[in-house]
Amino acid sequence: MKILKFGGSSVATPARIQSVIEIVKPYLREDVAVVFSAFGGVTDVLIQISRLALEGNLEYKATLADIERRHLDAVRALVGVQKQSSILAQVKFTINELEDVLHGVYLVKERTPRTLDYIMSFGERLSAYIIAEAFKDNGVAAEFLDARRVVRTDANFGYAKVDFDTTNTQIREHFSRQQALQIITGFIGTSETGETTTLGRSGSDYTAAIFAGALQASDLEIWTDVDGMMTADPRLVKKAFTVPQMSYEEAMELSHFGAKVIFPATMQPAMVNRIPIWIKNTFNPTFQGTVIHAESKNGKVIKGISSMNAISLLSVQGSGLLGVVGASARLFATLARERVNVILISQASSEHSICLAIESQYTRQAKTAIEKEFQYEIRNEEIDEVHVETDLSVIAVVGDNMKQSPGTSGRMFSALGKNGVNVMAIAQGSSERNISAVVRQADVAKALNALHEAFFLSDRKLLNVFLVGTGLIGKALINMVREQFNKLAEENLLEVNIVAIANSRKMLFQEAGLPLATCLDENEAKGEAMHMEKFVEHMVSLNLPNSIFVDCTSSEEVTSFYEAILSASISVVTPNKKANSASLEKYKLLKHTAFRRGVKFLYETNVGAGLPVINTLNDLLLSGDKVISIEGVLSGTLNFIFSSYTAGKKFSDVVKEAKAKGYTEPDPRDDLSGMDVARKILILSREAGLPYELSDITVENLVPADCREQTSVDAFFTALEKHDSAFEKLLAEATARQEKLRYMAVLKDGKVAVSLGTVNDKHPFYSLSGSDNIILLTTERYHERPMVIRGPGAGAAVTAAGVFADVIRIGHYAR
Ligand code: ADP
Ligand code: ASP
Ligand code: MG
Repeated sequence: MKILKFGGSSVATPARIQSVIEIVKPYLREDVAVVFSAFGGVTDVLIQISRLALEGNLEYKATLADIERRHLDAVRALVGVQKQSSILAQVKFTINELEDVLHGVYLVKERTPRTLDYIMSFGERLSAYIIAEAFKDNGVAAEFLDARRVVRTDANFGYAKVDFDTTNTQIREHFSRQQALQIITGFIGTSETGETTTLGRSGSDYTAAIFAGALQASDLEIWTDVDGMMTADPRLVKKAFTVPQMSYEEAMELSHFGAKVIFPATMQPAMVNRIPIWIKNTFNPTFQGTVIHAESKNGKVIKGISSMNAISLLSVQGSGLLGVVGASARLFATLARERVNVILISQASSEHSICLAIESQYTRQAKTAIEKEFQYEIRNEEIDEVHVETDLSVIAVVGDNMKQSPGTSGRMFSALGKNGVNVMAIAQGSSERNISAVVRQADVAKALNALHEAFFLSDRKLLNVFLVGTGLIGKALINMVREQFNKLAEENLLEVNIVAIANSRKMLFQEAGLPLATCLDENEAKGEAMHMEKFVEHMVSLNLPNSIFVDCTSSEEVTSFYEAILSASISVVTPNKKANSASLEKYKLLKHTAFRRGVKFLYETNVGAGLPVINTLNDLLLSGDKVISIEGVLSGTLNFIFSSYTAGKKFSDVVKEAKAKGYTEPDPRDDLSGMDVARKILILSREAGLPYELSDITVENLVPADCREQTSVDAFFTALEKHDSAFEKLLAEATARQEKLRYMAVLKDGKVAVSLGTVNDKHPFYSLSGSDNIILLTTERYHERPMVIRGPGAGAAVTAAGVFADVIRIGHYAR
């Protein structure tokens, strides 16, 4: 004997019901019975109609008419015309019965749990009846079985308990007399006094298990709309995958903590009778799905992660709880009396406080009851008023093998911590089969995804990048991500999703990742107006794990958001120097914020583009080395100018050539002023631990005084020509000494200066050509011969590569 159960989603439309019939047909060769839920969504609508009636809202009639139409249409679609009329009449007759009850609710303005159960029972009664007729129409000898005839329960309406002795006998008796395929209503039963009861929302799974147990079935199959029991709810975790097998206990824990795919009590009759439960997908019937049985074979520590929303946390604390025998017994007795289900408890060993998670709907009731129970202690200030926090969720990781594997909770909480998910209470089941934590509901999706990544894709990391600035560097970065995507995924197990891009005009978000080939055009075509504050708000509200904000602008405004971004546990990567060369206070604040939130603030490209300058300096310092001096040619532009400025050329022409080649800022004075170099050496000094401001640096401005006032670039060039002879003189003097002109930044003896100087052929700067940068680090260890870092120090491609390297570095930190 096999028992099959099809849930609401499998019977939501006549077409789906028809495919269910096709799924069942091959089973008819053996002994089988089938349990059905109400058509998808009907139970919710019935509850809603009853609420409208209760509130005296006559709209309940229109909604009831919809329900009636839906069922009549199903009959018309599933049953041949000649047989329809009697079935339609029966459906109408049943709906009339429902209408009478609702009218009663409307009149007396009362809806007891008993009435509600009766109202809810119509969903299954109608669906199973219609489906039985559809089977008959398909030539199957089928018979509708109203489970109320055989399933006996107590009178705990809404969550009735099954009387297995009576139920098992009645089921066996019924089946001993039947030949036809039984089409059974899920969810409902009858109390001893003949009242209709329900087994709890989603209880049709349980009905199926009850029949399986009573009939000693060989298998129980729960057919639903997903590929079995998965590592997490696929609606919340896109990368969830099917767990091929798990133990009854594991399935029970997962469903207890919210894995809706199977109702927790279902496992009990199956477990007692050692009946395997298969979870199968009606929409993918050949897929094997999940089998739930006595043992857990697979070696994975964790089988799944689940969550429950709408949770409140109550904390009771005070000296009155300390060592007082029976205080917690009173607390739990009070909640039991109020029928408030306690989902999770955590108590500090000091016994000073007890924390309880309950369903939000009971918050007021629970708080009032506890405060009443402890009114004496509260009045004497031995216990504080019950503290309540709402809008929370419980997340749980579950697995039988947790027992033998230390480190599970470390992994769990470090994944949550790294993603800025605040944990408000923690509990571990004494079976060591689950660890559960209370978090803010707003963090649930992020928490589940972070945990899923930590436990199931531990080698694989998904980085969510938010890119602002789509100029040369931003564009080069997008292309690099595109070119490297597959290689990174395969070899480094890193996936880089660009979730958002923005420029000064428009911004575009796509949570699952933008198409890299077309995202720039898409942003132009359909992006919304850029607004930095909104961009940040949206990014924070998406709350994605491993989020990285990449600033490829040179905007000061953008840097003003860094602190807020880091505070939201989002890492920042940027070539933009404005933040780190602003006030020392801001520089320190950003570093501190990143540290405190456990995220990264990386800016290797602030100095020397893609050259490893800042990381090298930090590595030296971290390993205990001390900086004696830093010297560098830090501007690719100025190096280009001075290395191509040779005898016979005019200085102004060389600057013009540099501009024409795109090596300078739009206004070359921004390069010649030396401020860009000053900012770079300032950042290096700060990295070396010196508490400097920009004003502490002496900067030689190469723009002659009269050239500074010119309002246009052209006027500047004209004015510069008058100084060609002065530059010529400098060049001639240097050449006479066999030296070369270099614009250098020097940190030495606690002083930082940026100026034009000369170097002879013994100096490492002498041979520097093109737009290269060079940095000499003289330290205690690198004393005789300083460490030299040299190479292309400007250009979109090398800068983008440096930014990309910082992003990937964060991926490795996240491991
Ligand atoms: P049915 O109508 O068949 O009873 P349910 O809606 O009750 O179906 O349960 C199936 C749903 O359970 C899935 O669509 C899925 O969103 C949700 N679900 C939650 N957790 C899990 C999980 N760990 N594995 C699979 N599905 C899950
Ligand atoms: N129809 C009921 C519900 O929606 C029972 C079930 O679907 O399992 O709760
Ligand atoms: Mg269900």
